[in-house]
Amino acid sequence: MKTMTCRDLGGPCELAHRADTADEIIKSQDRHLKEAVKSGDATHEDARQAMKGRWRHPKKSMAWYTETKQSFAALAED
Ligand SMILES: [Zn+2]
Repeated sequence: MKTMTCRDLGGPCELAHRADTADEIIKSQDRHLKEAVKSGDATHEDARQAMKGRWRHPKKSMAWYTETKQSFAALAED
C-alpha cells in the first residue's frame, strides 16, 4: 500500500488515501471530493471541478494522470 494526500492530488486538505494502485488512489480522491462538496465544503469545489473536467477530457488530462502515476510509482511502500 502507498499513501497520497488530498493535497498531493490537487486538493486542499491533508486527508490521506491509501491504495495499491494509482488508479485506486485517484478514484478514492474523486469520491472524497464529491463527498466534501456534497457536505458543503467549498474549499474542495475547485479540485472537484478540475477532476470532473479530467473525466470529460481524458486526452487533454493525460499529463495529469501520467504525473500522478509517476508520483505514485516513486513513493515508498507503507
Ligand atoms: Zn480534501
